[in-house]
Amino acid sequence: MTEPLFIYNTLSRKKEKFEPLTPPFVGMYVCGPTVYSDVHLGNCRTFVSFDLVYRYLKFLGYKVRYVRNITDAGHLEGDRDEGEDKFAKKARLEQVEPMEIVQKYTLGFHEVMRMVNALPPSIEPTATGHICEQIEMIKQIISNGYAYEVNGTVYFDVEKYNTQYPYGTLTNRQLDDLIAGTRELGGQDEKHGRLDFALWIHAKPEHMMRWPSPWGWGFPGWHIECSAMSSKYLGEIFDIHGGGMDLQATHHTNEIAQSQACNHKAPVKYWMHTNMLTVNGVRMSKSAGNGFLPGELFAGTHQLLDKAYSPMTVRFFMLQSHYRSTLDFSNEALQASEKGFQRLMNSYALLGKLTPSAASTTDIPVLIGKGLEAMNDDFNSPVLIAQLFECARVIQAVNAGSETISRADLDLLTVKMHEFIFDVLGLLPEDHANNEIVEGILNLVLTIRNEAKTKKDFATSDKIRDELNKIKIVIKDTKDGTSWSITQ
Ligand code: AMP
Ligand code: ZN
Repeated sequence: MTEPLFIYNTLSRKKEKFEPLTPPFVGMYVCGPTVYSDVHLGNCRTFVSFDLVYRYLKFLGYKVRYVRNITDAGHLEGDRDEGEDKFAKKARLEQVEPMEIVQKYTLGFHEVMRMVNALPPSIEPTATGHICEQIEMIKQIISNGYAYEVNGTVYFDVEKYNTQYPYGTLTNRQLDDLIAGTRELGGQDEKHGRLDFALWIHAKPEHMMRWPSPWGWGFPGWHIECSAMSSKYLGEIFDIHGGGMDLQATHHTNEIAQSQACNHKAPVKYWMHTNMLTVNGVRMSKSAGNGFLPGELFAGTHQLLDKAYSPMTVRFFMLQSHYRSTLDFSNEALQASEKGFQRLMNSYALLGKLTPSAASTTDIPVLIGKGLEAMNDDFNSPVLIAQLFECARVIQAVNAGSETISRADLDLLTVKMHEFIFDVLGLLPEDHANNEIVEGILNLVLTIRNEAKTKKDFATSDKIRDELNKIKIVIKDTKDGTSWSITQ
């Protein structure tokens, strides 16, 4: 922990020197997935970004308690505390219990995280497992005078809160502007103010996920779970809170308000937000319907894909852009990442075969220092990767005899590249040699199938397709030829 680390804090809108509240301990909370459907690649980007943060903090020697929740209750279709519950709707459509939906998509999420080599968090609490904590917090907010009950629903009083604490600090907005940008209340609305949001929602008779509370049977609003669970596991004030940028204006703004109204303390020292993964410039989201599933990418089955990409290529692609920049999804970018990743790993594999000389032609400690400097500058993984490419260039040049490296520098490079590639970036080696053999055999099988088709021997061509399907290899006939991919 010798080098200072700087983190961009959304709250102050500048990079700040990282000084944990109680070093060497660091508390980090990241808003996890809402498990009523599969996570898409955009969600993955956020979780891979915080995996990088977690790994780097641990690499620096901090003892990190990383809490990432599972949202398994309290999400309504409308964003104004109205509409059908998303879990209940999915359960109704699939004719299963809501908790079966939760289980299915939680398992799917864990599988995707495992494939992209994201470390599991220290604690993964669920909203439904912390109903008591949420009720206690709501009771405290009411008794502090910042919430009110109407017909079994409890609302947070934003205007009252704003008389004590500024409400829109995270996005630097004034209350009047926020109110002006919100729909006027109608006669049917129960809430007192336009920005008021539900802490607890009265359950209609048909609502399946429900719990008893001092206000009758109901279920928690979405924001309160994160306030209750973060304070339970990390304390009333903790170091880092993260999530995607889309959560700043409402979810995180309301989290700050709830915690402050309950404990009279600002809950978080450093707020971190990841930028969005986009497709043709449009944010990838469940509602926009432009969400790629990671499995579709690994199998190459999505219509916009030319081919399949390995989980490590996808992870590398994500880390090649800074977490605060948007990342646009394209075949070209993924292909470039695939090549870059292979080049890096091939060069790393050459390290053990290099013969050292008396002196080095490149200043290796400077190269390594620049990599660390990049990570200390708000986790700048693309600059670290650029330094690793420079290391790869040196390795190739030494191997070709056009440059030299000393024994000490070779040892340093071996240790540091290992740390950067595997510990910090969390990449895993892939068996490219075997991949090439598999690719060769499959291309041969597909050529035989195409010849059978040309001869109108459909029995043989169909048999090949079906047999490949049985071993989870899917083939796709397009006007440009036949491609194949392995399903997970
Ligand atoms: P959700 O399951 O929708 O609650 O989202 C889980 C996490 O993914 C949150 O931190 C979101 O901010 C984040 N997220 C959602 N869409 C994207 C996207 N297109 N790019 C990056 N992160 C996203
Ligand atoms: Zn949250």
